[in-house]
Amino acid sequence: MNTINNKKIAVIGGGPGGLTLARLLQMNGADVKVYERDAHKDARPKGATLDLHEESGLAALDAAGLMEAFWANYRPGADALRIADKHATLIFDDSDTPRQETMRPEIDRGPLQNILLSSLVERTVVWDSQFLNMQQQGSGWDITFKNGDIAYADLVIAADGANSKLRPYLTPIKPFYAGVTAIEGAVYNSEIVIPDMHKLLNGGKIFAFGDEKSLIVSSKGDGSLVFYPGFKCDENWVRASGIDFTNKAQVLEWFNAEYAGWDEIWLGLFENASGPFFARPQYCMPLDHTWEARPNLTILGDAAHLMPPYAGEGVNMAMLDALELSQALLNKDYPDTLAAIAAYEKQMRIRAAETADMTMQSTELLHSEEAIGFMMGVIGGV
Ligand SMILES: Cc1cc2nc3c(=O)[nH]c(=O)nc-3n(C[C@H](O)[C@H](O)[C@H](O)COP(=O)(O)OP(=O)(O)OC[C@H]3O[C@@H](n4cnc5c(N)ncnc54)[C@H](O)[C@@H]3O)c2cc1C
Repeated sequence: MNTINNKKIAVIGGGPGGLTLARLLQMNGADVKVYERDAHKDARPKGATLDLHEESGLAALDAAGLMEAFWANYRPGADALRIADKHATLIFDDSDTPRQETMRPEIDRGPLQNILLSSLVERTVVWDSQFLNMQQQGSGWDITFKNGDIAYADLVIAADGANSKLRPYLTPIKPFYAGVTAIEGAVYNSEIVIPDMHKLLNGGKIFAFGDEKSLIVSSKGDGSLVFYPGFKCDENWVRASGIDFTNKAQVLEWFNAEYAGWDEIWLGLFENASGPFFARPQYCMPLDHTWEARPNLTILGDAAHLMPPYAGEGVNMAMLDALELSQALLNKDYPDTLAAIAAYEKQMRIRAAETADMTMQSTELLHSEEAIGFMMGVIGGV
């Protein structure tokens, strides 16, 4: 008998981490529900394409029996990378290099979500269920949602992302500001709207660096592109700047000043942006944080170890957490959930700390004068 036999499990948050865990548990007979705050699967625009790594994101999909679905939905060639300076001069371009499926295959967030959702038993995900709080009830929890519903679970898994409302039930530790803020924008139908940039992008990604700033542009399978200027500033810059990020003219004015001297082609991204911009100050959980394991609550993904996106590890870590947590909970050698959760959390914290450390170094170097040299070293281009 495994540790979750006859237990009701509530996963809070239907991101890649929560959905992967639900699949891995459900395919092994567990009684699991996913409570997601969004009203439906398309409630929110989805960001950049994700590259899944063999030892983490792909390993989790493999264990979930979803590799066939992955290969049917990934974007061949989307991992093609170009590195440019602020003048849009290409320093590195691997778009003509023959790709192997074992490289770092990319998938858009929408198709990844679809694959995971359709692998679950119908009505596993309870939409429009924003977690508010929970109270201990016997050995489990009564969970209260914003819509007024209350659900009981023997075991709660916090998979509710960066601003986790469940994290405080385990630890008072909060993420610290990583020193860089990114602004997110999108251009729909980029081939027609900004053909020059579309051509430069060539179905892949561009990383541009200069003046201790970054500008990442990523193509998506639906014909749109997303872009993220990243720059060093104070934690409270977003508020202090007074910029209304739904007002294109204000964002253009900011970009022209902040990225003065950058090529016109980058400006075209902002001029042709399709929707509002989103300001995203980057945070990271302290690398040495720890807490005492509980028998009826654990945590995974960004909720456990938020880190900036400048090493492309967040989604991979969330999915590997799901794999390792499912393996621990299903392991018949553990006497109870406390032992299984303690083992999972110990290993997860060590791994996440190493990855966050590497990510913080990458975040700093990509926003320094050495950015291009550092990036070339990472990809083995020098
Ligand atoms: C701009 C940007 C670019 C990125 N690029 C990459 C990349 O290239 N590669 C990479 O690996 N990672 C990248 N990441 C990080 C990656 O998106 C995250 O690490 C990953 O999505 C974490 O997965 P998760 O399941 O833990 O959390 P999330 O994906 O955040 O999912 C959490 C879910 O919980 C739900 N939720 C939140 N609060 C509640 C609540 N109170 N009640 C119920 N549900 C709730 C949310 O709606 C969401 O569906 C990027 C992140 C950003 C911001």
